[in-house]
Amino acid sequence: MTELLEEYGLYWQPLGGNNIDQISGHSYRYTDVSDLGRTTIIVDLGKFDNHQALGIKNSSAAVPDIRIFLNGEKDRAEAIFITHSHPDHLNGIVHYIKAGYALPKLYAGKYTFMILEDLYKQFEIPKYKRPKQVIIDDGDVIKIGAMEIEVLSSSHTCFDSFGFVIKTPNTTVYHSGDMKIDSSTYFRRATNTRRLKQLAGTIKFAVADFYGVYDDGYAIKEVTTFKKLVQLIKKSRKNKIFLPVYPTHPEMYIIAFLAALKLRKNVVFFGNPDFYCYLNRIMDYGISFDNLAKNRIKVIYTHNRDEIATLDENYVVIGTYNHVSQAFDANSENCFGIITAKTFFNPLKGQLNAHNIKFTDVTTAPELQGFGHGFLKDYEYLNFILAHPIFIPTHCPVFVIENFRELARFMNIKMLDDTPRNNEIFRLIGKKAEKISELPAKWLVVIYNGDFAYLTEVFQKATSGMGFLKRTISNRRCLRRFQMFLQRRKRGDTEPLPQIHHEPFIYKEPQ
Ligand SMILES: [Zn+2]
Repeated sequence: MTELLEEYGLYWQPLGGNNIDQISGHSYRYTDVSDLGRTTIIVDLGKFDNHQALGIKNSSAAVPDIRIFLNGEKDRAEAIFITHSHPDHLNGIVHYIKAGYALPKLYAGKYTFMILEDLYKQFEIPKYKRPKQVIIDDGDVIKIGAMEIEVLSSSHTCFDSFGFVIKTPNTTVYHSGDMKIDSSTYFRRATNTRRLKQLAGTIKFAVADFYGVYDDGYAIKEVTTFKKLVQLIKKSRKNKIFLPVYPTHPEMYIIAFLAALKLRKNVVFFGNPDFYCYLNRIMDYGISFDNLAKNRIKVIYTHNRDEIATLDENYVVIGTYNHVSQAFDANSENCFGIITAKTFFNPLKGQLNAHNIKFTDVTTAPELQGFGHGFLKDYEYLNFILAHPIFIPTHCPVFVIENFRELARFMNIKMLDDTPRNNEIFRLIGKKAEKISELPAKWLVVIYNGDFAYLTEVFQKATSGMGFLKRTISNRRCLRRFQMFLQRRKRGDTEPLPQIHHEPFIYKEPQ
């Protein structure tokens, strides 16, 4: 395969994250070929959520196949850059180490490495087997061979989410990572639009997270979720509020806490071990709920009945839980529930019903679900500030992109001609892109025998992602939606884009 890649160019290859119908297990390969030689890096090494659908008995996981870039003489990866800490971008690392591979240097944010450290402990990976790690942050520029990689913060649902501007002698690509354009993030840096505006014109391609493109408008902002929570808690007129949050979305822990603080309600952090693990990481990262509370409210971290009794019957229970503990003396008179995820807390809804406790959820108030991925307007905005790069969509089923093309043309959003599928290779040079190879998508299924991981190659089946599709959107509904958005735009019925000023970029230290 690699013999083909002799012509000058930047070769981009999705190894996971761009399937026909399944979008997890992210991993992307970049190889630059120029006078300066050959340089290869990998961006993200996630795990594939739906490994059971690949039909291999006793499988524990599935991961993208990057073996050739670990063993190969020619295009050995010099580094792995991780955009953020979510399992579909990070968790492949441990399985490769368990399978006996030595990985190149990892570049990721401080929080991502904290989550990786937990994985190393969970999988009992000794220090000497772990790859070297380099902590990166917004504004850093790293030189790897012929590539210059600039790190830019991205608004997403965990700390230290980054996009990368990859500059090579052949072209410049902005790899967004999971992101939205939201400048209202709490305790985290927002998408660095200021720097993106500066780089407008030099960025020729945007390898962008198109996960949320089938919703119009901007993605829900954190401040909107916060305001909605405050409003709902107030309106309920109840003293005890059940507010479960999704374990891997630290931003919701913080928003829920801030809403409780604003209304002077005490807080009980309550949940399963997964929840406490992420809560501890948030605190290790430097967020002190006790300092934020400053004697204005009490904060407790257990479900101890005596401790709960000190909270004057006035509190918000924030956590990951699906039962209503006896310790809360919950009843319809004094309690209200606010459910912030679609299906994850269904058993809790049952329990609230059993206690006759009223609740609201994301069906009635969509703002409750924190959102980490841009909507259509976010991409319109990105297109505008980057002065019309060619978009290479990722993190999105292929049919969504195919349906999106007509609308994209109307909105002057340039798209790669061929919608990329896993394992295809594209050569990027200047503003030109051409598909040079297509091989069927595959995964490495991980089977553990004691301490050792065996990797088995399995080709992707068309049905492997059906679960995902059922949960989100069908082909027909998707097409209808895009037609509706198109009509809306033809009528001129959308808010205009903001004026942009190309200000000088000033790097601000985190507070
Ligand atoms: Zn993510």
